[in-house]
Amino acid sequence: MNNDKLTELADLMFPDVTKTIEDYEKMYPERNLPEGAIVTRFAPSPTGFVHMGSLLGAFQAYKVAKETNGVFYLRIEDTDQKRSVENGIVGILNDLKNFDIVPDEGMIDEEHSIGNYGPYIQSERMEIYHTFAKDLVLRGLAYPCFCKPEELEETREIQELNKERIGYYGSFAKCRTMDIDEAITRIKNGEEFTVRLKSPGDFNKKIVLNDLARGEIEFPENDLDVILIKSTDKLPTYHFAHLVDDHLMRTTHIMRGEEWIASFPIHDQLFSIFGFEKPKYAHLGLVMKIDENGVRRKLSKRKDPEASVEYYHKEGIPKDAVKLYLMTIANSNFEEWLDNNPDGDINDFKYDFKKISASGTLFDTAKLFNISKNYFGKMKAEEIYDNLLVWTDEFDKEFHDILVKHKDYAIKVFNIEREVEKPRKDYVSYSSIKNFVFYMFPEYFENPNYEFNKITDKEEIVNILNTYYDKYLDLSDKDIWFTKVKEMCDSLGYASNIKEYKKNPDAYKGNVSDVTGVIRVSLTSKTNTPDLYEIMKLLGLDEIKERFTKCINNIK
Ligand code: GLU
Repeated sequence: MNNDKLTELADLMFPDVTKTIEDYEKMYPERNLPEGAIVTRFAPSPTGFVHMGSLLGAFQAYKVAKETNGVFYLRIEDTDQKRSVENGIVGILNDLKNFDIVPDEGMIDEEHSIGNYGPYIQSERMEIYHTFAKDLVLRGLAYPCFCKPEELEETREIQELNKERIGYYGSFAKCRTMDIDEAITRIKNGEEFTVRLKSPGDFNKKIVLNDLARGEIEFPENDLDVILIKSTDKLPTYHFAHLVDDHLMRTTHIMRGEEWIASFPIHDQLFSIFGFEKPKYAHLGLVMKIDENGVRRKLSKRKDPEASVEYYHKEGIPKDAVKLYLMTIANSNFEEWLDNNPDGDINDFKYDFKKISASGTLFDTAKLFNISKNYFGKMKAEEIYDNLLVWTDEFDKEFHDILVKHKDYAIKVFNIEREVEKPRKDYVSYSSIKNFVFYMFPEYFENPNYEFNKITDKEEIVNILNTYYDKYLDLSDKDIWFTKVKEMCDSLGYASNIKEYKKNPDAYKGNVSDVTGVIRVSLTSKTNTPDLYEIMKLLGLDEIKERFTKCINNIK
């Protein structure tokens, strides 16, 4: 091959290149990290939000980097300009931060980054990509391709018709064998071109991917002359950017979605051609859900609110509960670990690539909510109060002001059946709490919607409430309180002893739980609440009186 000609071609194709690959190797030397340290990254497009599936990936990448004293960095992949939105980076950073994922390096806002391996946004790495591509042209391993979309489409149709493998390879790769002089002339004439790899691969030979999550996967070698640099904006394709960036940023582990598995032969070939050390790969399964119709499908940002990270923030599901859940779907042995270490910190769990569920991860909100309930079950009342204050400040100002006004009282409300051996597990999120406690706040008890069920006769309800208030209401301690309630039952013809009642139900109007039910509903409007005695003690005699009166007036 004529080296002068190749140089002329390469210079024409990349007039902006001033450095060599060696220059970049020096600028971005191997990282000085302890043995076994993992360098990995999260590499989203600047779309402004993080999909739950991506968060799961970022979460795992962050975890392994931290565990090994490695590096986790954020690289913005904006080579597909269609996917970029305004403030798209800040949105991503916020979503990550909501789950305590703070990159060690990379973009920190729309324009700035930290770290020595940048730029961390692909559109600013143009010259770097061009340097690498130019090197390939000089070595006869890349060439300009002038094929128009129509021509490529035509080739594709022919391949389909003849049942041949689809793609730009072998004799279908028209520009591969173009005379250099012709290429030079066409570029000089201002013709648009892409830069393609002159693949040295043989489709009949095999290569193996040793996927950390999936084990060995065999592929034919790549023989496609894939596009490395696009024609219009001169930005790299994913394949080429992956090679250049992950090499120069010294990434050791690529944790990415399984949709990239099929491209592995291209990536492997590119690393071989340049003689670069190959990173390890773990391809993570898609995040799936079973929809209302029982169909298993991909979790979709468009259809499923739970697919967006913002949802958890808005719902007020504690981030630590979401993290516990994410770990259960990231590593199949985590749940067992958690059972054995109920108070364990996620940081003490050792991430295991072999326990990644490769077949796709089922996103199960019911399970997440369950984890969240357990999580709330372990929280102290004051902690709940503090966090709820933060949440309501953003999402429910009215409730926020009520909580501020009644701080000590609110903490006591949250403490009912809490900080005991078997705490109540009803709160699932900060947004759910109001529904469980609203009646404890007079502000929310102006127009109660009473849910009387067992005893519904109005006169009987009035009778029970009046009798109770006049003769039996005593809150001095729980035993006395209950003894009095039972005394009233006996006097009004209700069984105070449930066993007795069961033996002979016809002898009574009902039993003690029906009577406490009336008191409960009149004071809270609900049939199901935490401990009634605790509630009554907190409400106090004046409020009880007011609520009884309100109820009596209301049902009359
Ligand atoms: N920008 C790519 C994506 O979002 C990154 C894949 C990778 O991690 O290499 O799919």
